[in-house]
Amino acid sequence: MALIVQKFGGTSVATCDKIRNVARRVLKQARAGNRMVVVLSAMAGETNRFVDLSRQMQRIPDPREMDVLLSSGEQVTVALFAMAVKDEGHDAISLLGDQVRITTDKLHTKARIKNIDTALINRHLEAGKVVVVAGFQGVTEQDDITTLGRGGSDTTAVALAAALKADSCEIFTDVEGVYTTDPNVCSSARKISRISYDEMLELASLGAKVLDIRSVGLAKRYKVPVHVRSTFTETEGTWVVEEDKTMESMLVSGVTYNKNEARITVSRVPDTPGIASRLFTPISEAGIVVDMIIQNTRTGDNITDMTFTVPRSDYERAMKIVESMAGEIGVERVTGSVDIAKVSIVGVGMRNHSGIATKMFDVLAREGINIQMISTSEIKVSCVIEEKYTELAVRALHDAFGLSQDNQPVAQSN
Ligand code: ADP
Ligand code: ASP
Ligand code: MG
Repeated sequence: MALIVQKFGGTSVATCDKIRNVARRVLKQARAGNRMVVVLSAMAGETNRFVDLSRQMQRIPDPREMDVLLSSGEQVTVALFAMAVKDEGHDAISLLGDQVRITTDKLHTKARIKNIDTALINRHLEAGKVVVVAGFQGVTEQDDITTLGRGGSDTTAVALAAALKADSCEIFTDVEGVYTTDPNVCSSARKISRISYDEMLELASLGAKVLDIRSVGLAKRYKVPVHVRSTFTETEGTWVVEEDKTMESMLVSGVTYNKNEARITVSRVPDTPGIASRLFTPISEAGIVVDMIIQNTRTGDNITDMTFTVPRSDYERAMKIVESMAGEIGVERVTGSVDIAKVSIVGVGMRNHSGIATKMFDVLAREGINIQMISTSEIKVSCVIEEKYTELAVRALHDAFGLSQDNQPVAQSN
Protein backbone atom coordinates (compact mmCIF):
# COMPACT_ATOMS: atom_id res chain seq x y z
CA MET A 1 0.00 0.00 0.00
CA ALA A 2 1.67 3.18 -1.20
CA LEU A 3 1.30 6.75 -0.02
CA ILE A 4 0.87 8.89 -3.11
CA VAL A 5 0.82 12.69 -3.36
CA GLN A 6 -0.89 13.95 -6.51
CA LYS A 7 -1.12 17.62 -7.43
CA PHE A 8 -3.54 18.95 -10.04
CA GLY A 9 -3.06 22.43 -11.54
CA GLY A 10 -5.62 25.09 -12.39
CA THR A 11 -6.58 23.86 -15.85
CA SER A 12 -7.11 20.35 -14.44
CA VAL A 13 -9.75 21.66 -12.00
CA ALA A 14 -11.14 24.49 -14.13
CA THR A 15 -14.77 23.29 -14.07
CA CYS A 16 -16.99 21.03 -11.96
CA ASP A 17 -16.82 18.34 -14.68
CA LYS A 18 -13.04 18.45 -14.63
CA ILE A 19 -12.98 18.25 -10.84
CA ARG A 20 -15.23 15.18 -10.99
CA ASN A 21 -12.97 13.53 -13.60
CA VAL A 22 -9.91 14.18 -11.48
CA ALA A 23 -11.70 12.80 -8.41
CA ARG A 24 -12.44 9.60 -10.35
CA ARG A 25 -8.81 9.32 -11.39
CA VAL A 26 -7.67 9.69 -7.78
CA LEU A 27 -10.28 7.18 -6.61
CA LYS A 28 -8.91 4.49 -8.92
CA GLN A 29 -5.69 4.68 -6.93
CA ALA A 30 -7.49 4.88 -3.58
CA ARG A 31 -9.64 1.85 -4.39
CA ALA A 32 -6.51 -0.07 -5.37
CA GLY A 33 -5.49 0.31 -1.73
CA ASN A 34 -3.23 3.39 -1.89
CA ARG A 35 -3.32 6.23 0.61
CA MET A 36 -4.00 9.40 -1.37
CA VAL A 37 -3.07 13.00 -0.59
CA VAL A 38 -4.33 15.38 -3.26
CA VAL A 39 -3.04 18.95 -3.60
CA LEU A 40 -5.10 21.35 -5.68
CA SER A 41 -4.66 24.75 -7.31
CA ALA A 42 -7.44 27.28 -7.78
CA MET A 43 -9.58 26.98 -10.90
CA ALA A 44 -7.70 28.32 -13.94
CA GLY A 45 -7.85 32.12 -14.12
CA GLU A 46 -9.09 32.61 -10.56
CA THR A 47 -5.82 33.78 -9.01
CA ASN A 48 -5.37 36.29 -11.85
CA ARG A 49 -8.92 37.50 -11.30
CA PHE A 50 -8.13 38.13 -7.62
CA VAL A 51 -5.03 40.09 -8.59
CA ASP A 52 -7.18 42.30 -10.87
CA LEU A 53 -9.79 42.79 -8.16
CA SER A 54 -7.18 43.80 -5.59
CA ARG A 55 -5.76 46.44 -7.94
CA GLN A 56 -9.19 48.03 -8.15
CA MET A 57 -9.01 48.58 -4.39
CA GLN A 58 -5.41 49.67 -3.84
CA ARG A 59 -2.69 50.57 -6.33
CA ILE A 60 -0.21 48.54 -4.30
CA PRO A 61 -2.40 46.01 -2.45
CA ASP A 62 -1.78 45.40 1.22
CA PRO A 63 0.29 42.17 1.34
CA ARG A 64 -1.51 40.59 4.29
CA GLU A 65 -4.95 41.16 2.81
CA MET A 66 -3.66 40.08 -0.59
CA ASP A 67 -2.88 36.65 0.85
CA VAL A 68 -6.31 36.34 2.44
CA LEU A 69 -7.73 37.04 -1.02
CA LEU A 70 -5.33 34.92 -3.10
CA SER A 71 -5.68 31.85 -0.91
CA SER A 72 -9.45 31.77 -1.38
CA GLY A 73 -9.26 30.15 -4.83
CA GLU A 74 -7.77 26.94 -3.46
CA GLN A 75 -10.37 26.87 -0.70
CA VAL A 76 -13.07 26.56 -3.37
CA THR A 77 -11.45 23.70 -5.29
CA VAL A 78 -10.57 21.54 -2.28
CA ALA A 79 -14.13 21.74 -0.95
CA LEU A 80 -15.67 20.91 -4.34
CA PHE A 81 -13.18 18.08 -4.82
CA ALA A 82 -13.99 16.52 -1.43
CA MET A 83 -17.70 16.73 -2.34
CA ALA A 84 -17.01 15.01 -5.67
CA VAL A 85 -15.16 12.16 -3.94
CA LYS A 86 -17.98 11.73 -1.43
CA ASP A 87 -20.50 11.76 -4.26
CA GLU A 88 -18.58 8.84 -5.80
CA GLY A 89 -19.08 6.95 -2.54
CA HIS A 90 -15.68 7.35 -0.88
CA ASP A 91 -14.75 9.38 2.18
CA ALA A 92 -12.65 12.53 1.81
CA ILE A 93 -11.72 15.64 3.76
CA SER A 94 -10.50 19.03 2.59
CA LEU A 95 -7.83 20.83 4.61
CA LEU A 96 -6.53 24.39 4.31
CA GLY A 97 -2.93 25.35 4.95
CA ASP A 98 -3.63 26.66 8.44
CA GLN A 99 -5.61 23.55 9.40
CA VAL A 100 -2.74 21.26 8.40
CA ARG A 101 -0.31 23.76 9.88
CA ILE A 102 1.87 24.40 6.94
CA THR A 103 3.91 27.00 8.76
CA THR A 104 5.72 29.66 6.73
CA ASP A 105 7.76 32.79 7.28
CA LYS A 106 6.01 36.17 7.18
CA LEU A 107 6.92 37.19 3.63
CA HIS A 108 3.41 37.69 2.29
CA THR A 109 2.75 36.64 -1.33
CA LYS A 110 6.06 34.78 -1.50
CA ALA A 111 6.32 33.00 1.82
CA ARG A 112 8.61 30.03 2.41
CA ILE A 113 7.51 26.85 4.11
CA LYS A 114 9.29 26.33 7.44
CA ASN A 115 7.49 23.28 8.73
CA ILE A 116 4.64 20.91 7.97
CA ASP A 117 2.76 19.12 10.72
CA THR A 118 1.80 15.72 9.30
CA ALA A 119 -0.26 14.51 12.29
CA LEU A 120 -3.70 15.61 11.10
CA ILE A 121 -3.15 14.35 7.54
CA ASN A 122 -1.93 10.99 8.83
CA ARG A 123 -4.92 10.67 11.14
CA HIS A 124 -7.34 11.18 8.26
CA LEU A 125 -5.35 8.83 5.99
CA GLU A 126 -5.52 6.15 8.65
CA ALA A 127 -9.29 6.64 8.75
CA GLY A 128 -9.31 5.75 5.04
CA LYS A 129 -10.06 9.23 3.71
CA VAL A 130 -8.73 10.89 0.59
CA VAL A 131 -7.03 13.97 2.06
CA VAL A 132 -7.41 17.07 -0.12
CA VAL A 133 -4.98 19.86 0.76
CA ALA A 134 -5.22 23.43 -0.54
CA GLY A 135 -2.06 24.24 -2.48
CA PHE A 136 -0.15 27.53 -2.46
CA GLN A 137 -1.04 28.56 1.11
CA GLY A 138 0.33 28.42 4.60
CA VAL A 139 0.13 30.22 7.90
CA THR A 140 2.60 32.17 9.99
CA GLU A 141 3.34 31.40 13.60
CA GLN A 142 1.10 34.43 14.37
CA ASP A 143 -1.81 32.83 12.45
CA ASP A 144 -1.72 35.12 9.44
CA ILE A 145 -2.51 33.42 6.13
CA THR A 146 0.31 33.44 3.59
CA THR A 147 0.77 32.34 -0.01
CA LEU A 148 3.88 30.83 -1.53
CA GLY A 149 4.23 32.80 -4.76
CA ARG A 150 2.61 32.13 -8.13
CA GLY A 151 2.72 28.47 -9.09
CA GLY A 152 3.20 27.62 -5.42
CA SER A 153 0.91 24.57 -5.36
CA ASP A 154 3.75 22.53 -6.87
CA THR A 155 5.80 23.47 -3.83
CA THR A 156 3.03 22.45 -1.45
CA ALA A 157 2.89 19.04 -3.17
CA VAL A 158 6.63 18.35 -3.06
CA ALA A 159 6.92 19.64 0.51
CA LEU A 160 4.07 17.36 1.58
CA ALA A 161 5.62 14.40 -0.25
CA ALA A 162 8.88 15.02 1.60
CA ALA A 163 7.23 15.54 5.00
CA LEU A 164 4.96 12.50 4.67
CA LYS A 165 7.79 10.39 3.18
CA ALA A 166 5.45 9.58 0.31
CA ASP A 167 6.25 6.78 -2.11
CA SER A 168 5.59 9.03 -5.09
CA CYS A 169 4.88 12.61 -6.02
CA GLU A 170 3.00 13.27 -9.23
CA ILE A 171 2.38 16.71 -10.70
CA PHE A 172 -0.54 16.60 -13.10
CA THR A 173 -0.88 19.43 -15.57
CA ASP A 174 -2.19 20.36 -19.03
CA VAL A 175 0.88 19.14 -20.96
CA GLU A 176 2.45 15.67 -20.98
CA GLY A 177 5.63 16.57 -19.15
CA VAL A 178 8.65 18.84 -19.34
CA TYR A 179 9.53 19.74 -22.93
CA THR A 180 12.54 21.24 -24.67
CA THR A 181 10.50 24.44 -24.74
CA ASP A 182 6.91 25.47 -24.03
CA PRO A 183 4.86 23.12 -26.24
CA ASN A 184 2.12 25.75 -26.39
CA VAL A 185 4.52 28.15 -28.10
CA CYS A 186 6.51 25.76 -30.26
CA SER A 187 4.70 22.79 -31.77
CA SER A 188 7.93 20.92 -32.45
CA ALA A 189 8.91 20.90 -28.74
CA ARG A 190 10.06 17.45 -27.61
CA LYS A 191 9.14 15.77 -24.33
CA ILE A 192 12.14 15.02 -22.11
CA SER A 193 11.75 11.62 -20.44
CA ARG A 194 14.22 12.20 -17.57
CA ILE A 195 15.79 15.44 -16.42
CA SER A 196 18.14 16.16 -13.52
CA TYR A 197 17.11 18.38 -10.62
CA ASP A 198 19.83 20.85 -11.55
CA GLU A 199 18.79 21.25 -15.14
CA MET A 200 15.13 21.52 -14.11
CA LEU A 201 16.10 24.17 -11.56
CA GLU A 202 17.72 26.17 -14.31
CA LEU A 203 14.75 25.78 -16.69
CA ALA A 204 12.30 26.73 -13.93
CA SER A 205 14.34 29.73 -12.83
CA LEU A 206 14.33 31.01 -16.40
CA GLY A 207 10.61 30.76 -16.90
CA ALA A 208 9.56 27.16 -17.67
CA LYS A 209 6.54 27.46 -15.39
CA VAL A 210 5.61 23.79 -15.73
CA LEU A 211 7.23 23.37 -12.30
CA ASP A 212 7.63 26.06 -9.68
CA ILE A 213 11.32 26.57 -8.96
CA ARG A 214 10.94 26.15 -5.20
CA SER A 215 9.31 22.76 -5.71
CA VAL A 216 12.36 21.63 -7.67
CA GLY A 217 14.69 22.93 -4.97
CA LEU A 218 12.79 20.98 -2.32
CA ALA A 219 12.66 17.85 -4.48
CA LYS A 220 16.43 18.00 -4.88
CA ARG A 221 17.07 18.64 -1.20
CA TYR A 222 14.82 15.84 0.03
CA LYS A 223 15.50 13.51 -2.93
CA VAL A 224 11.87 13.33 -3.97
CA PRO A 225 11.53 11.94 -7.52
CA VAL A 226 8.83 14.01 -9.23
CA HIS A 227 6.74 12.72 -12.11
CA VAL A 228 5.28 15.55 -14.24
CA ARG A 229 2.43 14.27 -16.40
CA SER A 230 -0.88 15.04 -18.05
CA THR A 231 -4.22 15.05 -16.25
CA PHE A 232 -5.96 14.22 -19.49
CA THR A 233 -3.96 11.17 -20.70
CA GLU A 234 -2.37 8.10 -19.13
CA THR A 235 0.94 8.69 -20.94
CA GLU A 236 4.19 8.50 -19.00
CA GLY A 237 5.47 12.04 -18.42
CA THR A 238 8.86 13.41 -17.35
CA TRP A 239 10.80 12.18 -14.32
CA VAL A 240 12.72 14.86 -12.45
CA VAL A 241 15.43 12.94 -10.63
CA GLU A 242 19.07 12.94 -9.58
CA GLU A 243 21.56 13.19 -12.43
CA ASP A 244 22.81 9.84 -13.68
CA LYS A 245 25.15 8.66 -16.37
CA THR A 246 22.40 7.52 -18.70
CA MET A 247 21.15 11.08 -19.15
CA GLU A 248 22.05 12.68 -22.40
CA SER A 249 24.41 15.55 -22.08
CA MET A 250 22.95 17.95 -24.58
CA LEU A 251 24.61 21.12 -25.76
CA VAL A 252 21.37 22.97 -25.24
CA SER A 253 18.58 21.11 -23.50
CA GLY A 254 15.90 23.76 -23.46
CA VAL A 255 14.70 27.19 -24.49
CA THR A 256 12.72 29.23 -21.97
CA TYR A 257 11.05 32.61 -21.80
CA ASN A 258 9.88 34.78 -18.97
CA LYS A 259 7.39 37.58 -19.45
CA ASN A 260 7.13 38.32 -15.75
CA GLU A 261 9.97 40.78 -15.49
CA ALA A 262 10.23 44.53 -15.97
CA ARG A 263 13.24 46.72 -16.72
CA ILE A 264 14.33 49.81 -14.82
CA THR A 265 17.05 52.11 -16.15
CA VAL A 266 18.75 54.68 -13.96
CA SER A 267 20.51 57.18 -16.23
CA ARG A 268 23.53 59.22 -15.39
CA VAL A 269 24.35 58.06 -11.88
CA PRO A 270 27.62 59.15 -10.23
CA ASP A 271 30.19 56.39 -10.76
CA THR A 272 31.54 56.35 -7.22
CA PRO A 273 31.98 53.62 -4.59
CA GLY A 274 28.81 52.80 -2.66
CA ILE A 275 26.25 53.87 -5.26
CA ALA A 276 25.15 50.33 -6.19
CA SER A 277 24.81 49.47 -2.54
CA ARG A 278 22.72 52.59 -1.82
CA LEU A 279 20.52 51.92 -4.83
CA PHE A 280 19.90 48.23 -4.29
CA THR A 281 19.76 47.99 -0.48
CA PRO A 282 16.28 49.55 -0.11
CA ILE A 283 15.01 47.44 -3.01
CA SER A 284 16.15 44.21 -1.38
CA GLU A 285 14.92 45.41 2.02
CA ALA A 286 11.48 45.71 0.42
CA GLY A 287 11.71 42.00 -0.46
CA ILE A 288 12.12 42.70 -4.19
CA VAL A 289 14.42 40.29 -5.98
CA VAL A 290 16.58 41.95 -8.62
CA ASP A 291 17.54 39.62 -11.44
CA MET A 292 19.84 41.01 -14.14
CA ILE A 293 21.98 44.09 -13.51
CA ILE A 294 24.03 45.90 -16.11
CA GLN A 295 26.26 48.85 -15.38
CA ASN A 296 27.89 50.74 -18.23
CA THR A 297 31.53 51.64 -18.07
CA ARG A 298 32.02 55.24 -17.11
CA THR A 299 31.71 57.80 -19.87
CA GLY A 300 34.70 59.90 -18.80
CA ASP A 301 32.86 62.28 -16.49
CA ASN A 302 32.44 59.83 -13.60
CA ILE A 303 28.89 59.19 -14.67
CA THR A 304 27.36 55.85 -15.61
CA ASP A 305 24.00 54.19 -16.40
CA MET A 306 22.51 51.19 -14.63
CA THR A 307 19.81 48.89 -15.89
CA PHE A 308 18.25 46.05 -13.97
CA THR A 309 15.20 43.81 -13.96
CA VAL A 310 12.67 43.08 -11.22
CA PRO A 311 9.55 40.87 -11.14
CA ARG A 312 6.78 42.63 -13.05
CA SER A 313 4.50 42.42 -10.01
CA ASP A 314 7.07 44.46 -8.04
CA TYR A 315 7.70 47.01 -10.80
CA GLU A 316 5.63 49.85 -9.39
CA ARG A 317 7.03 49.41 -5.89
CA ALA A 318 10.58 49.25 -7.22
CA MET A 319 10.05 52.36 -9.37
CA LYS A 320 8.70 54.25 -6.37
CA ILE A 321 11.74 53.31 -4.29
CA VAL A 322 14.22 54.27 -7.02
CA GLU A 323 12.42 57.54 -7.79
CA SER A 324 12.36 58.47 -4.12
CA MET A 325 16.13 58.01 -3.96
CA ALA A 326 16.97 59.68 -7.26
CA GLY A 327 17.53 63.13 -5.76
CA GLU A 328 19.57 61.84 -2.87
CA ILE A 329 21.95 59.81 -5.04
CA GLY A 330 22.04 62.31 -7.89
CA VAL A 331 20.34 60.30 -10.62
CA GLU A 332 19.37 62.26 -13.70
CA ARG A 333 16.51 60.13 -15.00
CA VAL A 334 14.66 56.93 -14.10
CA THR A 335 12.86 55.10 -16.90
CA GLY A 336 11.43 51.63 -17.22
CA SER A 337 9.40 49.21 -19.27
CA VAL A 338 7.17 46.24 -18.57
CA ASP A 339 7.06 45.26 -22.25
CA ILE A 340 10.10 43.05 -22.06
CA ALA A 341 10.76 39.32 -22.05
CA LYS A 342 13.78 37.27 -21.15
CA VAL A 343 14.58 34.46 -23.56
CA SER A 344 17.15 31.88 -22.46
CA ILE A 345 18.92 28.79 -23.68
CA VAL A 346 19.94 26.22 -21.07
CA GLY A 347 22.21 23.19 -21.17
CA VAL A 348 24.95 21.59 -19.11
CA GLY A 349 26.81 20.84 -22.36
CA MET A 350 27.57 24.55 -22.71
CA ARG A 351 30.25 24.21 -20.04
CA ASN A 352 32.66 22.72 -22.53
CA HIS A 353 31.65 24.44 -25.72
CA SER A 354 32.31 27.89 -27.07
CA GLY A 355 30.20 29.70 -29.63
CA ILE A 356 26.78 28.91 -28.14
CA ALA A 357 26.10 32.50 -27.07
CA THR A 358 27.28 33.85 -30.43
CA LYS A 359 24.96 31.48 -32.20
CA MET A 360 22.08 32.74 -30.05
CA PHE A 361 22.88 36.36 -30.91
CA ASP A 362 23.08 35.46 -34.63
CA VAL A 363 19.70 33.75 -34.55
CA LEU A 364 18.05 36.77 -32.91
CA ALA A 365 19.77 39.16 -35.33
CA ARG A 366 18.54 37.15 -38.31
CA GLU A 367 14.99 37.60 -37.02
CA GLY A 368 15.56 41.35 -36.62
CA ILE A 369 15.22 41.16 -32.84
CA ASN A 370 17.16 43.71 -30.81
CA ILE A 371 18.89 42.51 -27.64
CA GLN A 372 18.47 44.93 -24.72
CA MET A 373 20.39 43.01 -22.03
CA ILE A 374 22.52 39.87 -21.94
CA SER A 375 23.52 37.64 -19.07
CA THR A 376 25.40 34.38 -19.09
CA SER A 377 26.36 31.68 -16.62
CA GLU A 378 28.10 28.35 -17.02
CA ILE A 379 25.04 26.63 -18.37
CA LYS A 380 22.75 29.35 -19.72
CA VAL A 381 22.58 32.46 -21.87
CA SER A 382 19.73 34.93 -21.42
CA CYS A 383 18.73 37.90 -23.56
CA VAL A 384 16.15 40.55 -22.73
CA ILE A 385 14.14 41.51 -25.80
CA GLU A 386 10.92 43.34 -26.60
CA GLU A 387 8.00 41.23 -25.35
CA LYS A 388 6.21 41.12 -28.70
CA TYR A 389 9.05 39.07 -30.22
CA THR A 390 9.03 36.35 -27.53
CA GLU A 391 7.32 33.56 -29.47
CA LEU A 392 9.32 34.30 -32.62
CA ALA A 393 12.57 34.17 -30.66
CA VAL A 394 11.67 30.94 -28.86
CA ARG A 395 10.74 29.13 -32.08
CA ALA A 396 13.80 30.38 -33.95
CA LEU A 397 16.17 29.34 -31.14
CA HIS A 398 14.51 25.95 -30.65
CA ASP A 399 14.91 25.29 -34.34
CA ALA A 400 18.46 26.64 -34.63
CA PHE A 401 19.71 24.47 -31.75
CA GLY A 402 18.10 21.38 -33.30
CA LEU A 403 15.92 20.63 -30.30
CA SER A 404 13.03 19.21 -32.22
CA GLN A 405 15.19 16.46 -33.68
CA ASP A 406 16.30 13.40 -31.76
CA ASN A 407 19.75 13.44 -33.30
CA GLN A 408 21.00 16.60 -31.66
CA PRO A 409 24.76 16.41 -31.23
CA VAL A 410 25.78 15.24 -27.77
CA ALA A 411 28.32 17.41 -26.00
CA GLN A 412 31.75 15.91 -25.56
CA SER A 413 33.43 16.41 -22.26
CA ASN A 414 36.90 17.85 -22.46
P1 ADP B 1 -0.70 24.12 -13.78
O1 ADP B 1 -1.86 25.04 -13.75
O2 ADP B 1 -1.06 22.69 -14.02
O3 ADP B 1 0.22 24.30 -12.61
P2 ADP B 1 1.05 25.74 -15.38
O4 ADP B 1 0.31 26.62 -16.34
O5 ADP B 1 1.59 26.32 -14.15
O6 ADP B 1 0.11 24.50 -15.08
O7 ADP B 1 2.26 24.99 -16.14
C1 ADP B 1 2.01 24.26 -17.31
C2 ADP B 1 2.35 25.12 -18.51
O8 ADP B 1 3.75 25.37 -18.52
C3 ADP B 1 2.08 24.48 -19.86
O9 ADP B 1 0.75 24.65 -20.27
C4 ADP B 1 3.08 25.18 -20.77
O10 ADP B 1 2.46 26.19 -21.52
C5 ADP B 1 4.06 25.84 -19.81
N1 ADP B 1 5.47 25.52 -20.09
C6 ADP B 1 6.46 26.45 -20.19
N2 ADP B 1 7.62 25.86 -20.46
C7 ADP B 1 7.39 24.52 -20.52
C8 ADP B 1 8.23 23.40 -20.76
N3 ADP B 1 9.55 23.52 -20.99
N4 ADP B 1 7.66 22.17 -20.75
C9 ADP B 1 6.35 22.03 -20.51
N5 ADP B 1 5.50 23.07 -20.30
C10 ADP B 1 6.01 24.30 -20.29
N1 ASP C 1 -3.32 29.35 -7.85
C1 ASP C 1 -1.95 29.77 -7.71
C2 ASP C 1 -1.48 30.45 -8.98
O1 ASP C 1 -2.25 30.59 -9.92
C3 ASP C 1 -1.03 28.64 -7.33
C4 ASP C 1 -0.90 27.54 -8.33
O2 ASP C 1 -1.74 27.38 -9.22
O3 ASP C 1 0.07 26.78 -8.22
O4 ASP C 1 -0.38 30.88 -9.05
MG1 MG D 1 1.69 25.75 -12.16
